[in-house]
Amino acid sequence: MKIVDLKATIVERITIIRIDTDEGIYGYGEAHCPKHHVLDLKPFIIGQDPTNVERVMLRIRHRGAFKPWGAGVSAVEMALWDIAGKAAGLPVHRLIGGKVRDRVRVYCDCGSGVPLDPQDPSSAYSPEAYAEKARRRRRLPEGFTILKFDIGFHGRQLLSVPGGVYDALDSYPTRGHVTERGLKAEIEIVKALKEVLGDEIGLALDCGPGQSLPAAISLAKALEPFNLLWAEDLLTGDYTPFTDSEAYRLLSMSTSTPILTGEQIYLRHGFRSLIEKNAVDIVAPDICDVGGLAEAKWIAEFADLYGILIAPHNFGLPIAFMANVHAAAAMPMNFIAFEHHMADVPWWEDLVKGIEKPIIKDGFAKVPETPGLGIELEEKVVRKHLAEGETYFE
Ligand SMILES: [Mg+2]
Repeated sequence: MKIVDLKATIVERITIIRIDTDEGIYGYGEAHCPKHHVLDLKPFIIGQDPTNVERVMLRIRHRGAFKPWGAGVSAVEMALWDIAGKAAGLPVHRLIGGKVRDRVRVYCDCGSGVPLDPQDPSSAYSPEAYAEKARRRRRLPEGFTILKFDIGFHGRQLLSVPGGVYDALDSYPTRGHVTERGLKAEIEIVKALKEVLGDEIGLALDCGPGQSLPAAISLAKALEPFNLLWAEDLLTGDYTPFTDSEAYRLLSMSTSTPILTGEQIYLRHGFRSLIEKNAVDIVAPDICDVGGLAEAKWIAEFADLYGILIAPHNFGLPIAFMANVHAAAAMPMNFIAFEHHMADVPWWEDLVKGIEKPIIKDGFAKVPETPGLGIELEEKVVRKHLAEGETYFE
């Protein structure tokens, strides 16, 4: 079998790709980058046998880097596994070790609070605004068992507190040192969230891309009584083109609040010092940035040797979602849950067919047994959501 084409199109703002072969089998991937980043890889994969996934990856892996530059490589990787699975008549999880679990826990990204005063955007950052969002998210039909909220510099919460920071840019991404007033505002939000969620729903916080080390330590220690599932990107993360594993080690050593990072990192090599130093408690590679689904599975295995957990980051359409399901199905018992960022997108699930719906039920996604990633695009719906000027892989 040979690769004959790589095509890309844009659904709303997300690039999706299709790799075609001379045997009529094709594979889908999701590229969280401009189209041309992934189309640039085409000359290096044409004529290759897509079922030798690793051999093809060796031709393109060096063309990726920290987020967003690893996105094209990652998209090709998941499309290759989709093809390899279809060619073998096996689900992707069977090609990367087989499933450990029949269903995979999914957590829900919640952002900030509900803007209680539509005229005032800062009204989304009061403790009551967060509590109201938590109440609404608890009622979602997906039945999520873990919710994640943005505080600190993520979602601009700290910037909404007058005198909350010593110095910061007025735009995302920014970092900085936090005042006592800023720290108290963060703590009040967590208190309000816990009053709604109790110990029935796990609470995680996204604080990326970071605060000063002393501010991060103060926050993590102050939040210890709330038994968070994790505090994410307290020092670096998101669009940070490096990882400060030494500072993360100091932070993790100073607190019992579990510390997580990793969504910006490319390849297992990027996680090496974080894992070998036990600099974090949980790693969060994004399959769409780290180099693909098998790469994430390798990182899970490596982290497990050090007692580190894994909760993959994910911001994607159902293609990336299913790549996560297959990878997570095959991960060791250090897997917690992967992220769903599209709870507010009503047409999200309609983009695909060939899979049992609802895709998320009781907070879990079922691991499919159909070949490849186990989804086919619903052309009619995809066409409806194509970005202006885009065509359906024509
Ligand atoms: Mg994050």
